[in-house]
Amino acid sequence: MTEFLQVQPTVQNRWRALILLGRNTAAYKFALADALLSGDFADTDLVKIDELALPFAQSLSKHVAAAPKQGSTGLNRAMQSACENFNAGLVSDEQLRAIACRHGFGDVIDAFHMLGGQAIEQPFFIDERRESKAIRLTDHLYTLLDTAERKDLAREVDARWRVVETAWALGVNAGLVDFERETGTLSLRSGDRRLALRSCCATLNGYQKGKCFYCFAPISIESGSNCADVDHFFPWALRLRFANADGIWNLVLACQACNRGAGGKFDAIPNIDLLERLHRRNEFYVESKHKLGTTIIAQTGKTAAARRSHLQQAFADLTCARIHHWMPDLRAEPAF
Ligand SMILES: [Zn+2]
Repeated sequence: MTEFLQVQPTVQNRWRALILLGRNTAAYKFALADALLSGDFADTDLVKIDELALPFAQSLSKHVAAAPKQGSTGLNRAMQSACENFNAGLVSDEQLRAIACRHGFGDVIDAFHMLGGQAIEQPFFIDERRESKAIRLTDHLYTLLDTAERKDLAREVDARWRVVETAWALGVNAGLVDFERETGTLSLRSGDRRLALRSCCATLNGYQKGKCFYCFAPISIESGSNCADVDHFFPWALRLRFANADGIWNLVLACQACNRGAGGKFDAIPNIDLLERLHRRNEFYVESKHKLGTTIIAQTGKTAAARRSHLQQAFADLTCARIHHWMPDLRAEPAF
């Protein structure tokens, strides 16, 4: 566990070690990390628990909305219902802040710096709750906030959080859940599943003729800098709003620029023309009696009309959640 620290003990890596390797019995640490990374602490290094409480609790609420179980035994009752009621519009910012002040911090302040059973030597804040109901930020945190990687670190917190909450939902150890950074997908670690994903890449690539699904730029499925992302056509972030998000019917290979470059897709819903393209792709597998076709039938419908309407329904439902549609910049001639 400490190897990670010894390789490159930069302030960023100490932070990463805490977030990625520390114990996670509940989501409080992620919420605190999120609040620290997103805050503006230019004026004072003494941050009142009062001030931290709202961004902290909002971060928790956002995750509760996507994954209600936020701990191996869940959040404490007061916080859980505060987050749920906040999401339902029944609790105001001010009420949420007050509840989080009283019930949200528990032992997260003490536990934040613990790694492998002991506190790390260069903490990101000092506990001054007794003296002033506050924490005092250290230079280590300011160094971190000043780095160009600040946004990456925030994304990493979120990614790790998603891994851990998937594990909580499934009732398994977080070590069994993988977040594939390249693809932004989560999978339960099992020999079969990973193998399936690899062979499914090769199959998808066959249909896509070695080109990005969206912009037709050349892609590779070998690992390397040009390696394609397995992309969820309908975004994984909205997975609770439609069935079988990880199903093959919803997976395509995309170049990194389309998936996560400037102007990239990220969590957007693709344009309706692209939906048509996805339907054609899925029908290709069905009509060619490819074994993926059977899976697509099982996941989206027995007839072409049913499958088309399945896609249209998902498109309509998710459009309500996202409003904007995304179109790629073409990087090569259309190829399918
Ligand atoms: Zn592309």
